[in-house]
Amino acid sequence: AKQRGRGNWVRYAGGMERPASAHARLGGDLRRALDAAEFRIVYQPIVALADGRITGVEALVRWEHPEKGLVSPADFIPAAERTGLIVPLGRFVLRETCRQAAAWLAEFGPDLLDKAAPNVSVRQLHDPDFVADVDAALADSGLPANRLVLELTESAVLRGQHVSRVLHELHDMGVRLALDDFGTGESSLSLLRAFPAAIVKLDKSFVDGIELDEPDTPAAHARQAVARAVVQLADALGLETVAEGIENQEQADRLLRLGYAVGQGYHLGRPMPPEKLTEIFAARRVR
Ligand code: C2E
Ligand code: CA
Ligand code: CA
Ligand code: CA
Repeated sequence: AKQRGRGNWVRYAGGMERPASAHARLGGDLRRALDAAEFRIVYQPIVALADGRITGVEALVRWEHPEKGLVSPADFIPAAERTGLIVPLGRFVLRETCRQAAAWLAEFGPDLLDKAAPNVSVRQLHDPDFVADVDAALADSGLPANRLVLELTESAVLRGQHVSRVLHELHDMGVRLALDDFGTGESSLSLLRAFPAAIVKLDKSFVDGIELDEPDTPAAHARQAVARAVVQLADALGLETVAEGIENQEQADRLLRLGYAVGQGYHLGRPMPPEKLTEIFAARRVR
């Protein structure tokens, strides 16, 4: 089981149960949880490294299980994708994020919050209603399309013709697309050509150890080289960058010097309930 200071995650599948039946049970439990409104969204600030301004928030789903407590998305998103439940769950995340972002924008204005970014699973892109759902979420909330960023993890599945058409439709609506976990996929570079992305998110694995002057292994050295190359490539292509998983000030300083203007990580702000962010915005406004 994962044990972390603040997270208090529980491992979902239990004991000696066979994986197949544990997965089936999880699938049923997810459906019940959606009906019972057990899913919550927490928001993690995305921050300008030079001055600490919050440029955006990433929406991250949480499952508050009545008996098991907080279940990590790493444990239930794969099951939700397998069972197709990611489609209604993702729709909930999309609609709620748009609603919350529109409320923040109305109260605090775009100087305090520029954009909001839910994660979207490739499975959702294959749902025939996806573009209409995004359109309706924007219309119903009043959130302008250019304030919405959809985070997509790069993968081979992003290539098909249908997905490509969907991504271009979203792009034409004014919605921005971010390539998540950038650098970990099999062919990040060729994907960039086929994909109307506005933002690349440098994966945390390249941020770990970025602060070291003398990386101690060839692999660590190579990771630093990737972090340098990604920001140069993004600049050349006119893409924004976000460096993920920043856990200390040394990393933030080093990334800023490498050319990363924006970052995200526990050092800059934990994922938090919306009320907490509302307090932060309010405190910054009256400063
Ligand atoms: P992700 O999209 O790469 O999100 C970043 C993850 O890194 C989040 O984990 C976040 O809490 C964590 N994180 C942020 N800063 C730090 C840091 O400084 N150090 C470390 N060690 N971790 C940090 P989380 O919330 O557990 O989510 C895990 C993954 O689950 C996400 O990775 C995303 O792929 C998926 N996920 C979460 N919410 C959703 C959702 O609504 N829909 C879909 N399809 N996937 C989601
Ligand atoms: Ca993400
Ligand atoms: Ca990521
Ligand atoms: Ca990830």
